[in-house]
Order: sequence, then C-alpha cells, then structure tokens
Amino acid sequence: MKKIEEYVRSIPDFPEPGIIFRDITSILQDADGLHLAIDSLQDLIKDVDVDVIVGAESRGFIFGMPMAYNLHKPFVPVRKKGKLPCETISQSYDLEYGQAEIEIHKDAIKPGQKVVIVDDLIATGGTMEAAVKLIEELGGEVVKILFLMELAGLKGREKLKGYDVASVIRYE
Ligand code: IMP
Repeated sequence: MKKIEEYVRSIPDFPEPGIIFRDITSILQDADGLHLAIDSLQDLIKDVDVDVIVGAESRGFIFGMPMAYNLHKPFVPVRKKGKLPCETISQSYDLEYGQAEIEIHKDAIKPGQKVVIVDDLIATGGTMEAAVKLIEELGGEVVKILFLMELAGLKGREKLKGYDVASVIRYE
C-alpha cells in the first residue's frame, strides 16, 4: 500500500519561481489516495470531542466536508470575501503581496461549540490565524486545527501557539 505522501505531486516553480507547489489533485484523482487522505485526517481527531467542522476555502472544503459527513457533524465554510449571502463577520490577513479577507456566516457557530478547523496546507499560518479569529469572535472553541500538509520551514505554527495543531504530512 502506498503512503499518503507518495500521492502528492510536487511542482517546482509554481506559481512563481522558487516555490515548490504541493498539489493535492494527484491525491484526489486516485480512489485509494482520497480514502487515505480523509482517513488519516480523521484519525487525528478520533479522541476529540467536536461539534462542528470548519473548512477554509477552497481546499479545506475538499477535506473537511467528508470528515463532517463521516462523523455526522455539521460543516461550516469559511469563504473568501463577498461569497456568503447572509450576515457575516470578516477578518483580513497579510499575503506575501497585499491582503486578503475571509468571512463566516454569523449564525454558523453557536457560543461554546467545539470546533475543528481543516485546511489542506499550512505555509505562513496567516489564513488559519484569521479563521481562528472568526470562530472565536462567534464564541466557538477551537479544539483542534488540522492540515493535510505542513511546510514546517515557514514556521506557520508560531502564529497558532496555544492551539492543538496537527498535520498528516510534514515537509521540512
Ligand atoms: P498560509 O496562509 O501562508 O499558511 O497559506 C496557506 C494557504 O495557501 C492554504 O489555504 C493553502 O491552500 C495555500 N497554499 C500555499 N502553498 C500551497 C501549496 O504548495 N499547495 C497547496 N496550497 C498551498
């Protein structure tokens, strides 16, 4: 049986020179890879008491949603600005060049709910830090933060100090 990291395709110089892009489509397009990815993530929360799974747009949806379905828990999307139709709260964060903004529906998390957040990859940690702020602003308790892949050299975990962070694949 292949290991999960063997399903990841690494593309040098995408989207810019010097970046090695970790591509998840090569996992998803293989039925065994897809199962292994979801099962490996789910295994990381097998002992966690969770009320809601939150996924960060867009690859966090791909991995978070099947977990929520399997665990019979609700799924809540954190989306890029301007996509959610009802009342939202928003949070901006820094990108390499400029800023981005993400949003969540105000009624998506109830105060006191235990939340697991899922994304495909942590680089600088900025996206996840913003997602944590949104959930906490609504009164949710972030009990675990999950990534399929972690670019450890970028030290994204430092932005998530004090939280229980786990990843399936770690690149140094
Ligand atoms: P951060 O905010 O710097 O941690 O960047 C994380 C976000 O960028 C995640 O939502 C990822 O989907 C995306 N991202 C950055 N690098 C890669 C990559 O190599 N492969 C896939 N997604 C990436």
